[in-house]
Amino acid sequence: MNTPPDAEARRAVKPVICYPVESLPQPDMALYVTARETARKIDEVLAPPRDARTFSVPAGHFFRITSVEGPQVGDLNLWNAGDLSERFYSGKTRALHATHVSTGARLWSSFPALRPMATITGDTLDWYGKDEFGGSVHDVIGTRCDPYTHNLLKGGQYHHCCHSNLTRALAAHLGVPPVEAEPHVHDVLNVFMCTGFTRDTGQYFMKASPVRPGDYLEMFAEIDLLGALSTCPGGDCSAEHSSDSAACHPLLVEVFAPEKGALSSWTPPLRNGYDRSHGS
Ligand SMILES: [Zn+2]
Repeated sequence: MNTPPDAEARRAVKPVICYPVESLPQPDMALYVTARETARKIDEVLAPPRDARTFSVPAGHFFRITSVEGPQVGDLNLWNAGDLSERFYSGKTRALHATHVSTGARLWSSFPALRPMATITGDTLDWYGKDEFGGSVHDVIGTRCDPYTHNLLKGGQYHHCCHSNLTRALAAHLGVPPVEAEPHVHDVLNVFMCTGFTRDTGQYFMKASPVRPGDYLEMFAEIDLLGALSTCPGGDCSAEHSSDSAACHPLLVEVFAPEKGALSSWTPPLRNGYDRSHGS
């Protein structure tokens, strides 16, 4: 190993936050809290164990994902309801906010729109913080469990990974075969999942989710959303996924409409202002 003489000095350089969160357009959280107080429930969808369901949330409405029956992790995909090419961008959300998200963070959409699709307005697991292993909940670092990685590592055909669950649910919603829906499925927000990177080897880890029935994650839809939620076959992800061995539970999605006029000072976010000429 060619360790340079100033190795320690180079390592000691202090990190700089890539994207200071203060530079982002800030959501009016107080307005959302007030609007939520008088919002009424207009719809609900139950995602069964080891399966997924789609749901729709009009712009300016709220949706809540709740643990029911037992600890369960959910894999969430979001699309612009009117244009599926605009979809949740997990990597940029991670870069702009953090590896794990909670109240006040926003879920950003893909290029070229790059705008907030949703803002997190409630999280009953916000007390968890970071544990001694560096684990935390609601991550944007994982991708989604999928049958390809499963086949690569273990062989065989397993059809109830989150990737396949989301694909089937979207295919049913669009009325198209799974192969047509599959390219729309993307990296997820891992709702309720407790994850991190090991300090020594930097490997992605998961551990039993602290979620309990009644816990929820709630968001405000900044644009018209189509969502899909998969109940991960890993259950609470305490042991393994991509198999039928874990105890799995449903997850409930509820949609709430604000009272008329409650959001009169809110305007939906515009698509990104870059002109797309790329210097040519
Ligand atoms: Zn999964």
